[in-house]
Amino acid sequence: MNRARSITLFAEAEELFPGGVNSPVRAFRSVGGAPVFFERGVGAELEDVDGNRYIDFVLSWGPLALGHAHPEVVDAIHRSAVRGTSFGAPHALELSLARLIQQFMPSMEQLRFVNSGTEAVMSALRVARAFTNRTKILKFEGCYHGHADAMLVRAGSGVATLGLPDSPGVGSDVAANTLVAPFNDAAAVARLLGAHRHEIAAVILEPVVGNMGVVPPLPGFLQELRELTSAHGTLLLFDEVMTGFRVHLGGAQELYGVTPDLTMLGKVIGGGLPVGAYGGRREIMQLVAPAGPVYQAGTLAGNPIAMAAGVATLGVLARDGVWAGIANATKQWSAHLEEGARDAGVALQVQRVGTMCTPFFGDAPVTDWPGAKRASTSRYASFFHEMLNRGVYLPPSQFEAEFLSSAHVPEVIERAGRAARAAMHAVSAVS
Ligand SMILES: *Cc1c(COP(=O)(O)O)cnc(C)c1O
Repeated sequence: MNRARSITLFAEAEELFPGGVNSPVRAFRSVGGAPVFFERGVGAELEDVDGNRYIDFVLSWGPLALGHAHPEVVDAIHRSAVRGTSFGAPHALELSLARLIQQFMPSMEQLRFVNSGTEAVMSALRVARAFTNRTKILKFEGCYHGHADAMLVRAGSGVATLGLPDSPGVGSDVAANTLVAPFNDAAAVARLLGAHRHEIAAVILEPVVGNMGVVPPLPGFLQELRELTSAHGTLLLFDEVMTGFRVHLGGAQELYGVTPDLTMLGKVIGGGLPVGAYGGRREIMQLVAPAGPVYQAGTLAGNPIAMAAGVATLGVLARDGVWAGIANATKQWSAHLEEGARDAGVALQVQRVGTMCTPFFGDAPVTDWPGAKRASTSRYASFFHEMLNRGVYLPPSQFEAEFLSSAHVPEVIERAGRAARAAMHAVSAVS
């Protein structure tokens, strides 16, 4: 496969952008090689600048639940754009998208639209701190919540509770207010809540982790968090930026029957345009300006084109059988990966919830970050490139989820499955 033009463009991009990209994982650092520059997306497929075609399991990191350039989404965007791109004033489409979201997530009694998942998380944490009049936040090792300072902290061995910053530039004062527990470890959460009585404003998590690869909660884990946080006057925040409309139409809260105090959304609700949202209990959201004193604003928040794309996307997803069809395709795709690995003698754990999955190259199910780290990243890198050269675009990291869409019809899955079988044989030679 010739990717000469991508290679040239990336060399130029490295002059213009740090690492040649506008978001780090795009740079292929963990799998090696130059990233692919795409020119077009149609349905389940991408076409690069050299004219090569790929079946896409990244889907812009999750948002494109209907695949690329779905006609109804494109039409909605077009109809909205020709009427003006932004008003900085209320628009009826904001109500339409909010109502669609509430229909599936009734816990979002009131919500606020923002422009990204990062903003949704940052704003929800501010509201949680104001509501509880507490400053500390408890997060989980391996969960990603966007790049707000307070969330760029995870457990460094043995110093987790000290909150050492992961990134230079994050003040140690900020990091010190972020406590970290191992995912799926309710006992650790109980200990931290006990040790910091009346100090922890919120426990925040990805209720199904997608950002260390797909790692579901162990049975009872979310229920225990609900009980513990309620008992301590701490708010429970579900970051469903990735899981919303992906693990279930009603998100993880519906799938596992646990209601958070606040929910954060992004990705799918924007249908490929920049949208985030946070919301939850009315009495908490009433603190947000101008109803209350917690300031949070956005010049382009609730942008009509983005709202239109979101409404069109959720509208199609909600039709009979559409979401279930994507979940079924995800199951078929997982089966192909498992069979291919078995035939080639490659140890593989495919972890799947709803319309997202991750093949971990290892021999034990992954339940937390240390477990995810035990997966073979060299085997993943080999698999990634073998698949890329066979026309299948996977996330360029072992620790990211694969996503499917309504465009991933059986013929597409069969084709990707054949590529996976062949690729697994090449992977078996890698240690
Ligand atoms: C993607 C993601 C974010 C950040 O969203 P952006 O739109 O990239 O800022 C936050 N939380 C989770 C769980 C995500 O998957």
